[in-house]
Amino acid sequence: MLRGCTVARAKTADRGYGSAHQKLREQWRPKVEAGLVDCARCQQPIDPDGPWDLGHTDDRTGYTGPECRHCNRAAGGRNGAAVTNGKRVELRHSRRW
Ligand SMILES: [Zn+2]
Repeated sequence: MLRGCTVARAKTADRGYGSAHQKLREQWRPKVEAGLVDCARCQQPIDPDGPWDLGHTDDRTGYTGPECRHCNRAAGGRNGAAVTNGKRVELRHSRRW
């Protein structure tokens, strides 16, 4: 059975998490669960038992591939105000030699 291109894809695709995303994630899943995939952002092997997400490029025009969840969230939150690892710790003249 052939499914034509009649499925409206604009609505969910707008949000970046459409069925294409789900499908692609399913395609990656066996590899991730076999421990074969490195995170697209931190280049560390993704824990097969841990949570992971399928990441987007920053401009959302494509997928980067599986990412560990904390990397994915860090990237997603970068546009917002919550920057957790960007906290600037000022060195306040604490160098006493
Ligand atoms: Zn990562």
